[in-house]
Amino acid sequence: MKKHIVLLPGDGIGPEVIAQARKVLRVVEKKFGLSVDTEDALIGGAAIDATGEPLPPATLEACKKADAVILGAVGGPKWDKAPKRPEAGLLGIRKALNLFANLRPAVVFPELAELSALKKKTVERGIDILVVRELTGDVYFGQPAGEETKDGIRHAFNTMSYNEEEVRRIARVAFSAASSRRGRVCSVDKSNVLHVSRLWRSVVEETHRDYPDVALSHMYVDNCAMQLVLNPSQFDVILTGNLFGDILSDEAAAIAGSLGMLPSASLSDAAKGGGIGLFEPVHGSAPDIAGQDRANPIAAVLSLSMMLRMSFGQEEAATAVENAVHAVLRAGVRTADITGPDWKGEIAGCAKTGDLIAERI
Ligand code: NAD
Repeated sequence: MKKHIVLLPGDGIGPEVIAQARKVLRVVEKKFGLSVDTEDALIGGAAIDATGEPLPPATLEACKKADAVILGAVGGPKWDKAPKRPEAGLLGIRKALNLFANLRPAVVFPELAELSALKKKTVERGIDILVVRELTGDVYFGQPAGEETKDGIRHAFNTMSYNEEEVRRIARVAFSAASSRRGRVCSVDKSNVLHVSRLWRSVVEETHRDYPDVALSHMYVDNCAMQLVLNPSQFDVILTGNLFGDILSDEAAAIAGSLGMLPSASLSDAAKGGGIGLFEPVHGSAPDIAGQDRANPIAAVLSLSMMLRMSFGQEEAATAVENAVHAVLRAGVRTADITGPDWKGEIAGCAKTGDLIAERI
């Protein structure tokens, strides 16, 4: 297998955590006989400093030619008042690569159960949820949208809209993901109120006919928000639209504990000649700890393992990376963000945590 990936370290702790993902990738390559070329490119504030643009054309060209992209994080106070914002680089690349599916696992590692915002007895049953969120449609992009004043009264409006093709392609992502997990999809909508949700539900049911091995259920979004807190272990894959997914994926993240543990994947539309995946930690550039070797690299390392599994089909290598992360957590060495008040083990920096994960592969 010969693959080419682009690394976009970005700003703040981005370069620190990407350095650990690179370290782990090198070990995985040797152990599993893979051949992966890496190329670094600029994005965000670092790109603004070097070129004046948060997403330079050279970065975009490199990403379009790659088999996959791994991104660190962008942004920071240095550019808060800049005419061009680093975050525009992130939105730009998502749009240019046509990334319509966002996949966020929310896993409570048994070793870190005490860090969850939920009660121990709720978490103990095991939580391993994958939120599949549609990323390019819904009320965020529907037209008409705007503001106007009529008869002296200000008025603002957005349009919630999906067509059946947009629903079908994201439903396929969710069903495919569920078939290699525990085989259950819960589609979340508000079909008791919204026309858009009624179309969503019927297209999800039609698409389900192609996935007889997957069990499908439906849930209203308000109930789902409640069930995530009361009984999160009932969920395997949650499939939902852009707006509901925005909220539910953050809620699911909060039950998982630290931001430093959460990876994500955004996938493009293979049917439209794309097929590129962008893999990135959920966290931002953490300017408060940047440059101090205090960042937790696990979210970046788990983003690498998502890439190995989803873009390269390397299940065994992906599992080896995840097992190495578990082994390090069990060994009693952790970055400060995942120690908790009663922690008696060693507090390690970002680079050492990366070394330990690499050693255990
Ligand atoms: P943040 O995720 O950067 O940090 C929130 C808190 O979590 C901070 O206290 C930080 O120290 C901690 N934290 C985050 N990641 C960590 C890690 N790996 N290890 C240990 N601790 C970690 O969010 P923020 O402070 O709201 O935003 C900071 C900057 O990042 C802003 O410029 C924002 O726009 C940007 N941002 C970028 C992305 C992205 O690139 N995908 C996402 C969110 C925020």
